[in-house]
Amino acid sequence: MPSVQRFPSRRSRRSRRAAVLAVVVAFAAVGWVLAPATLGSLTSDRSSVPAGPAAAPKLGRSGSSAPAASASRRRASSRRSGAASQRAARDGRKRRRAARDSDRVNWRASVTLGTPTSGALRNAVRLPAEGRTFVTWDPVLRRIPNRPDRRNASAGLVRVLLGVAAGYARAHPDGARLLVGDLSRPQGGNFGVAFGDLGDGQGHASHQNGLDADVYYPRRDGRERGPPRGGPEDVMALDPELSQELVNRFVAAGAQVVFVGTGTGLTGPPGVVQALPRHNDHLHVRFAPR
Ligand SMILES: [Zn+2]
Repeated sequence: MPSVQRFPSRRSRRSRRAAVLAVVVAFAAVGWVLAPATLGSLTSDRSSVPAGPAAAPKLGRSGSSAPAASASRRRASSRRSGAASQRAARDGRKRRRAARDSDRVNWRASVTLGTPTSGALRNAVRLPAEGRTFVTWDPVLRRIPNRPDRRNASAGLVRVLLGVAAGYARAHPDGARLLVGDLSRPQGGNFGVAFGDLGDGQGHASHQNGLDADVYYPRRDGRERGPPRGGPEDVMALDPELSQELVNRFVAAGAQVVFVGTGTGLTGPPGVVQALPRHNDHLHVRFAPR
């Protein structure tokens, strides 16, 4: 009798062992499938960067992680669904992040009048002193943040600045935030030297109707600070690759014109990206009314 009872118990032990083994194998398979999916989603993040003409070779790295030909169909489909859920989570984070910076803005329907060199601004939208993805710089007092009466613009320009800042921050989550300089006066109009010496004895010739923005080139030393004051140090201080990426992002965002310094070597579509004296320490971007 005892021997008869032992048979079923031994069999059940064996089947338990088989069940445990099956679970272990299943976990190993899931881990094997998820790990490359995670890597794939990290590398494919690069594809969201708008690649301009000059930076294309550096930015276009998305297609290099194709699955091996030997991968089974099931594995490929699990990887796709894993990447899709991670993409959804990332999009959610993006929206929440963008919402936080955008929430600080008192949005209203602004009106741009005249031209950038002879114009005015009504119902200006003020860019906050700083956000998660950007910070403002006062070019006269040379400090963070910029004063409120120097960071007014059309709603469209503020929206574009926040969008470019968010995209840049996503691509460089551990880097310095976008450093934004002068926009326009609260009512637009003259923004000349009467409102401060920009370091070369002059003020702004334009910035009069809420469509112009000065943005500082990312620094080679990674500091979240304005450039050294004047001279060749300005060009030496900027990070050429990050600066070109920033130019490309503004071009991709629909800039009418991006003025860059004559000594910067920064390029872009002719007629849009233009080299101009007095811009070796910052770029000046202008948008059409929107
Ligand atoms: Zn400017």
